[in-house]
Amino acid sequence: MKPVRPDSVILPGSIIGVLGSGQLGRMFAIAARRMGYRVHTYSPDRDSPTGQIADVEIDAPYEDLDRVRQFAAAVDVVTFEFENVPAATAAAAAEHALVRPAGNVLHVTQHRLREKSWLRDNGFPVTRFEPIRGEQDIARVAPHFGPAILKTAGFGYDGKGQYRVNSAAETKSAWEAMGRQEAVLEAIVDFEAELSVVAVRDPRGVCVFYEPSCNHHVGGILDVCYAPQPFGADVAKAAREIARGILEALDLTGVMCVEFFLTRNRQLLVNELAPRPHNSGHLTIDACVTSQFEQQLRSVCGLPLGSAEMFRPAAMANLLGDLWAGGEPDWAAACSVPEVKLHLYGKLAPRAGRKMGHITATAHTAAEAGQVVRAARARLTR
Ligand code: AMP
Repeated sequence: MKPVRPDSVILPGSIIGVLGSGQLGRMFAIAARRMGYRVHTYSPDRDSPTGQIADVEIDAPYEDLDRVRQFAAAVDVVTFEFENVPAATAAAAAEHALVRPAGNVLHVTQHRLREKSWLRDNGFPVTRFEPIRGEQDIARVAPHFGPAILKTAGFGYDGKGQYRVNSAAETKSAWEAMGRQEAVLEAIVDFEAELSVVAVRDPRGVCVFYEPSCNHHVGGILDVCYAPQPFGADVAKAAREIARGILEALDLTGVMCVEFFLTRNRQLLVNELAPRPHNSGHLTIDACVTSQFEQQLRSVCGLPLGSAEMFRPAAMANLLGDLWAGGEPDWAAACSVPEVKLHLYGKLAPRAGRKMGHITATAHTAAEAGQVVRAARARLTR
């Protein structure tokens, strides 16, 4: 490992290694290159969204630990753009470079059951849940749940690996459908809204928080999000305080998104943690002094964090592969709305449900910005 002191600053001109090569790495690489850094990316893919922007794209399996060590030895700090990097890969990288966020954060956040248990054990509010590891667990706990969701304990995002269940019998069929793997049975929250906070912490413990956003999902995938959220300053303050507690308890260096349910009696429950920039923070590129991607760069390099202030209320709409069903979307039509900013990720195959890009708009109010992005997206396929 190169002699990097944890409090030293990794300056422009240095090389940042990114594990993963999707759109989050791409937007990170754009921010990093703009500030004069070089970027190497490592994933099993070629001509990837991140690789198209990076100086060096390595396509190799995450399990090839010698390649991972070589990759880490050639860079000044390693970060990641998705949390399902295998633990052994992060550990191999850490033999040769500083890895930020550190392995303990990946360990907690890449496994739903571990994450929920960690949150509960550290006093953070979560919905009621029980681990399901065998039929005896279903028989014991399922009769005491009302409507619930069975989720796989490992590797799951965007609502994948989730089944809504109403009885012990349905829970058993759902558990069999997911291959009898370890799972979490979670009470359904009758929520008023879904909110999230993107937060950043530097190696000295300084934290910066973005305006919490309000997020609408369709089919378990984020569809539209807007900020500031409309539930008032007390809700925003409470969300930030919970986020601060989580970042401090994890001793995180980097960006983390905390996703919440806001219940009808205005209680916040933590749904999920993402130890990286998040889809609900994409609007920070066009609406804030410093984007979430630049903050990731600053925090992992030990640079002072930038301001998270919003210039104007904003909204973001995702562009999924479904929009390509009738041919290439009409980009000029969306761009004809002057407030709209178009972001495309350079993905070659527009599959249904795949995140291909997003559009952002700023306006006088968040609700107005929401209408603008929805209308602009509708123009794409008219
Ligand atoms: P997740 O992958 O756990 O974030 O779930 C994806 C989406 O499913 C969430 O954003 C919610 O819209 C919905 N969902 C997940 N868990 C629950 C729950 N316990 N109660 C109600 N809705 C949920």
